[in-house]
Amino acid sequence: MQPLIDTFGRVHKDLRISVTDRCNFRCQYCMPEEGMVWLDRSEILTFDEIYRIANILVERFGLESIRLTGGEPTLRRELHVLVSRLASLGVELSMTTNGATLERHAVDLFEAGLTRINISLDTLDRQKFVELTRRDQLQQVIEGIDAAKQAGFDPVKVNVMLMKGINDTEIIDFLEFGRTSDVVIRFIEFMPLDAGEEWSQDRVVAASEIMDQVTEHYRSESLERGSSPAERFRFEPKSDVSSDLGENAQWGEFGIIASVSEPFCESCDRIRLTSDGQLRNCLFALEHLDLRALLRGGGTDEQLAKAIVEEVEAKRSGHNIGQVYFIRPSKSMSQVGG
Ligand code: SAM
Ligand code: SF4
Repeated sequence: MQPLIDTFGRVHKDLRISVTDRCNFRCQYCMPEEGMVWLDRSEILTFDEIYRIANILVERFGLESIRLTGGEPTLRRELHVLVSRLASLGVELSMTTNGATLERHAVDLFEAGLTRINISLDTLDRQKFVELTRRDQLQQVIEGIDAAKQAGFDPVKVNVMLMKGINDTEIIDFLEFGRTSDVVIRFIEFMPLDAGEEWSQDRVVAASEIMDQVTEHYRSESLERGSSPAERFRFEPKSDVSSDLGENAQWGEFGIIASVSEPFCESCDRIRLTSDGQLRNCLFALEHLDLRALLRGGGTDEQLAKAIVEEVEAKRSGHNIGQVYFIRPSKSMSQVGG
């Protein structure tokens, strides 16, 4: 087995696959309200094409995990069929979703072999939810979280993308939501990948600011980080500390993904496949490998593998957000696959 290694010695074991560029939401920080130009169906990789690439990565390069994303992955028809094919590769298989259709899909996806699920939810306030996502579907997402738990996903993780002045007042509400509904909360820093190009450093809620709020209300302890990009903690309300609880059920777990304030580029093990078959070695990559052209042009597995090796070798050391020489990629989060 050949490791998929770049010139900085990083071994790549995780693949993000965007299965569609479309979405049923229009989150302010991700897509414009109108005017997205969607890919034509013929441009999107088929399940056979996705499977072929994944299989090469697993068999030749020891890929260990795959995350399905988008756009909104649950909008891809027959997604459970792709899930069961990828699950047969024996990798850890996860998905990031906005949760709105999970009530319908959670059981099928779990039974098809999806092992982990992250549901994105940035506010618990209905009005704010409408403003942020431009859809009135908070209730559906809450029901989706319940449906995922009922289907057997454990733990269910809820991704909260924090933005200054918008939802940074809800950090404690989310922690309580997580603790009482038994889901793991993962706070994510806002990155310059919004289609509206409204990102600025002062809108990022940094990990240190999150921790300031946490320590005001909770007692927290670091947990083993493993290979996760999230710093992980368990926590319980300070007022409960003196009353000898001794019950794990009283504790919650949260994580922080500090991609901007504390980048984890030096341990990054990810590559990304867009829905139209571009292999990208970084969310912020300015170039890509057109795997679809190779696949549809009759490329052999050998040729595909060689091109993948070269693409990974070309990976830069980091994203450089906040540096004067940072260059914003032309593709937004929903187009690359978050
Ligand atoms: N539609 C699915 C969802 O929302 O979970 C999957 C795709 S979405 C692009 C994946 C993740 O990217 C979500 O958790 C979302 O909050 C996050 N995201 C989108 N735009 C972002 C940005 N500009 N900065 C940081 N995270 C972002
Ligand atoms: Fe859709 Fe996810 Fe982007 Fe929101 S973050 S617009 S749900 S792809």
